[in-house]
Amino acid sequence: MITLLLAMQIAGSAATAGAPTFIVVRDGQTTTSVPVTISDGQAFVRADLLVKAMRGTLTIGTNLHYTLALPRAHLDLIDGIPFAKFDTVTVPLTRAPQVFAGQLYLPFQFVSEILPRYGGGYFYDVAVGELRTNTSAAISRAPLPAVVASPPPGAVASSPTPAAAPPVTPRRTRPAAPPAPKVVVIDAGHGGPDNGMTGPIGSPAWFTEKDVTLSVAKKIATVLRARGVDVLMTRTTDTLIALADRGRIANSNHGDVFISIHCNAPGSNNAAGARERGFETYFLAEAKTEDERRVQDMENESVKFETGANAPKGDPLNFIITDMAQNEHLRESSDLAQTIQQGLIDVHPGPNRGVQQANFAVLRGSYMPAVLVEIGFGSNQSEATFLSDQANQRALARNIAESVIAYLAHYDSRIGGAR
Ligand SMILES: [Zn+2]
Repeated sequence: MITLLLAMQIAGSAATAGAPTFIVVRDGQTTTSVPVTISDGQAFVRADLLVKAMRGTLTIGTNLHYTLALPRAHLDLIDGIPFAKFDTVTVPLTRAPQVFAGQLYLPFQFVSEILPRYGGGYFYDVAVGELRTNTSAAISRAPLPAVVASPPPGAVASSPTPAAAPPVTPRRTRPAAPPAPKVVVIDAGHGGPDNGMTGPIGSPAWFTEKDVTLSVAKKIATVLRARGVDVLMTRTTDTLIALADRGRIANSNHGDVFISIHCNAPGSNNAAGARERGFETYFLAEAKTEDERRVQDMENESVKFETGANAPKGDPLNFIITDMAQNEHLRESSDLAQTIQQGLIDVHPGPNRGVQQANFAVLRGSYMPAVLVEIGFGSNQSEATFLSDQANQRALARNIAESVIAYLAHYDSRIGGAR
């Protein structure tokens, strides 16, 4: 699982000097993912997200000046100037910090070299893309000596035997609370006037994505409920739910994971396109390849069906906040995507198209680990036939449900280990 993830990051970083798709900032037990953005073939990290993850503050001054106040260091930057100033030391940068869309972006070197050298106690682990505080060097704190309370002079003892030591009740470690019931949100892609992708699977039958996704989603729900997992479905009928509302439904019901089910279609409408087949699982991040962008654009197109009450509110500030909330779940989402994708190998004729990343509107609004599964190409005649078969749908659904359960168990054990 981890090997695959690393391989994916290395594959995606060849052109950008070893930059991963995101870094993890670890401060003690707290970890925060910060995405790495590629611009002009150069890797950048958004300053506000990085500083927030490091528990610092970013102040925007006048004349393009920015101040990053970190817990143990202060530094000044100027938009477009390739230097950083740490107190009295001026350090050259490989690239100037730049403002895109109102946000200051720092060159990746800032994370990999500058902060470890000048940041006041950070180490960047290039193998796992992790920036962490040097807490391992912290002195283990000796237990405080027990204070024996002697009654103050003149105090009247309320107990008839004041000299007797109170019985020592050994403080029992609190028994681990039974894990809270988990809520899995299953989102059947498309619905209502939005058919998703459609195509012939041999006359007269047609393949309609919204019907297959609903059928598979219901079967996943059945398996999960039988295993004692709470399930919330964003839709159970042939109806249109706005992309943004799907995440909102998940949030307001305190979902623990969000899984959106879809069927794929090729980019080109030719013989080669018709031969495309296989399954892939996406998590939310910037699309990196042509193919990822194609699927992203295809699934985001549902927005055009949303009118009036269904239409999402285009609040840019809200978008930034949403973006940041989802970033915190990037690594979990990536883990969940890996688990589902690996599981499907056992039941899907394939090929395994791997874990992908793209910026899906439907995943953007959910504040929890979230993935989108493309269970196969409805445009490929044999795969469409496979996907339309009830027994195959049950096998896919059972497999996805088992992966979700395995992921939740793994997540629980990690949380438990951190206590
Ligand atoms: Zn779709």
